[in-house]
Amino acid sequence: TPSVSVESIRADFPILNETINGHHLVYFDNAATSQKPMQVMEAMNRYYFHSNSNVHRGAHTLSVRATDCYEGARDTVARLLNAASSREIVFTGGTTDSINLVAYSFSNGLLKAGDEILVSTLEHHSNIIPWQLAAQRCGATVKAIPMDAQGNLLINSYRELLSSNTRLVAVTHVSNTLGTINPVRDIIAIAHEKGIPVLIDAAQSVPHFQIDVQDLDADFVAFSGHKMLGPTGIGVLYAKESWLNQMPPFRGGGGMIQTGSVTIGNTLYNKAPYKFEAGTPNVAGAVGLAAAIDYMNEVGYDFIQQQEEQLLHYALEQLQQLPEVQLAARPEHMASVFSFNVKNAHYSDVATLLDSQGVAVRSGMHCTEPLLSHLQVNGTARVSFAFYNTLEEVDVFIKALQKAIRMLS
Ligand code: PMP
Repeated sequence: TPSVSVESIRADFPILNETINGHHLVYFDNAATSQKPMQVMEAMNRYYFHSNSNVHRGAHTLSVRATDCYEGARDTVARLLNAASSREIVFTGGTTDSINLVAYSFSNGLLKAGDEILVSTLEHHSNIIPWQLAAQRCGATVKAIPMDAQGNLLINSYRELLSSNTRLVAVTHVSNTLGTINPVRDIIAIAHEKGIPVLIDAAQSVPHFQIDVQDLDADFVAFSGHKMLGPTGIGVLYAKESWLNQMPPFRGGGGMIQTGSVTIGNTLYNKAPYKFEAGTPNVAGAVGLAAAIDYMNEVGYDFIQQQEEQLLHYALEQLQQLPEVQLAARPEHMASVFSFNVKNAHYSDVATLLDSQGVAVRSGMHCTEPLLSHLQVNGTARVSFAFYNTLEEVDVFIKALQKAIRMLS
């Protein structure tokens, strides 16, 4: 394989050449959404130019082409995750949609009054609120694994929280706010000792490192295409086939039925994954996601991880030199995202002053209000890297931050 370099990679991302407020763009908001390489946009265009049709329904050539594109994308996702079968891959609208699918389905017969769902204090709201809604429908309750002041989950407390009433554990692989990498393999093994299934929110992990669902023995894995070089509006729910077979459908409509079974009063459902894909799917989105995965495979997770670790190390080292900067937490195992505040300044002023110098970071609560309450902060500025970022960009960010600090003091 040809050797990859950040320079050659950056040439594939035209948006990285944008000028923002008179400055060269430095994009450090990758945890919110990643940028897209030309290869992804071209694959989607090619699909619309040459193959667009509806899937699974027609005998005509374009419909076969569209079906091949869509099912080929499913196979690409299955290979990425090392799923036992493509039947375990459900296409959804994104992580939020995937988690809602499982939560709704569980609330429709698999949960009862008194049951408990265990999440963690580190979760994104999209891995809390669907469970609240499910719990409210069934009379179940949601509990949370606590964390320490540095954003590490307390695994002993986790063991103690698992009870005979626990029906499901739902935890994030990587915190979108603090970068904590949770020990999900252990979390899964501990739950499985008690026969409890585990859902992993992989929105912030699949873009950065290899996930092997069989090795992890995960029951459910949810992630979004748009955070891993793909388009918005497409996501994945991986689920063990045995679970998909037990679970009732989330949404009803075309494509999710057994042909010849529908009457006004009753319906038999299609097999997985189609049972969970009612209506015309996001075919172009799936094509774009598959092109994104092809692109990541070409770059390779080794390169991605190495580059991002270097960026994280360098940035944290530089930040330590600035006495006005407080890191929100410093987890033991960390992906390439972190939160910080500038003493006596508001995080949104920090982000605005960075933007005025071309540096894009996120500010606010990052959809993790329980986490911020625990840390007793109202919000943070957040930096998140992708493998196309450079050490020079970190230098630009540090200079811009120093200027912002001067202006705010
Ligand atoms: N979980 C985590 C950890 C996330 O970072 C995000 C996106 N910020 C989500 C879930 C939700 O993803 P989406 O908005 O793509 O559904």
